[in-house]
Amino acid sequence: MQIDIKKTTSPKKHPEDKDLSFGAIFTDHMFNMDYNPNKGWHNPRIEPYSPIIMEPSSMVLHYGQAIFEGLKAYKTKEGKVHLFRPKDNIRRLNSSARTMCIPEFDEAFALDALKQLIRLEKDWVPKSEGTSLYVRPTIIATDPFLGVRASNTYRFFIILSPVGAYYAEGFNPVKIWVTKNHVRAVRGGVGHVKTAGNYAASLYAGEEAHKNGYTQVLWLDGVELKYVEEVGSMNIFFVIGDELITPMLNGSILPGITRDSVLAIARSWNVKVTERKISIDEIFEAHEKGTLKEVFGSGTAAVISPVGVIKYDEKIITIGDGNVGPVSMKLYKELTALQYGHAEDKMSWIEPVV
Ligand SMILES: *Cc1c(COP(=O)(O)O)cnc(C)c1O
Repeated sequence: MQIDIKKTTSPKKHPEDKDLSFGAIFTDHMFNMDYNPNKGWHNPRIEPYSPIIMEPSSMVLHYGQAIFEGLKAYKTKEGKVHLFRPKDNIRRLNSSARTMCIPEFDEAFALDALKQLIRLEKDWVPKSEGTSLYVRPTIIATDPFLGVRASNTYRFFIILSPVGAYYAEGFNPVKIWVTKNHVRAVRGGVGHVKTAGNYAASLYAGEEAHKNGYTQVLWLDGVELKYVEEVGSMNIFFVIGDELITPMLNGSILPGITRDSVLAIARSWNVKVTERKISIDEIFEAHEKGTLKEVFGSGTAAVISPVGVIKYDEKIITIGDGNVGPVSMKLYKELTALQYGHAEDKMSWIEPVV
């Protein structure tokens, strides 16, 4: 399929790197492609970023049949632009599509479309340390129809947002709140899928945590409220003794690409790495014994997010001395060095764009 390109006649002013926040401004162009049962995925095009006109009865607005991805393009010192593990994001989007009854798309074509869009917008990729171009591929159900069934028509779009350094005030540990009143996902549900409703369902608990002075919610499993699953919308890791532990993928945990990268890097360092069920009681017992050294979240937006304080029921614990631990720091440095092209790409995670 040939991608039609229609350029904007009114380019926007680019922000300065120092003014960038997260996900608040968008570039001049977007990618769009449509699906219907007769033509399949068709009419791929890059055109000016603009509102999507759709009927109020569009199914996505009522039943939430929507999936998305989040990845980043980075500018290197030499001025080249590349993506970090984009094939994994595209594969995960297709896997989300299968689970949400959305028709699959050609992954090689989607990668090519993404690269063409970024090439057109290469001047929007910020240069300063810690900044990047956030990429948001999305698929939504567009049938104008009320009634619960899978839509027959869809829109696939990609938008781009230059984003600032996530840690504007430094790489500081966050406080997290363990909730027993809410669960993020359940066994047999769609917790492993990046689908819109999961995030709507997480808001109430997030607000509760914020009101109490905590940054993120630590989610327990939806069956026994006993095992740790994720933190906010990140995967979670613990350093207990000399072991790096993360909850094993169980269908209600999102299979994070940063999670996978952390596991691969730690294994390459010969760190003892374990994916298994880990209960909140085990975390607090390890803290009692003095073996709980570090806790951190992992995800594309923040890369590594160290945890300094955990509150569970009436118990509040400080992890280590409340500062960033050495494993969190070393992983953050290695991951960002790979992403910005400062470290040798031994795992072939970098996809050149420009
Ligand atoms: C996106 C996401 C993650 C992290 O995935 P990455 O691929 O590392 O960005 C973790 N948990 C949830 C719920 C997510 O939506």
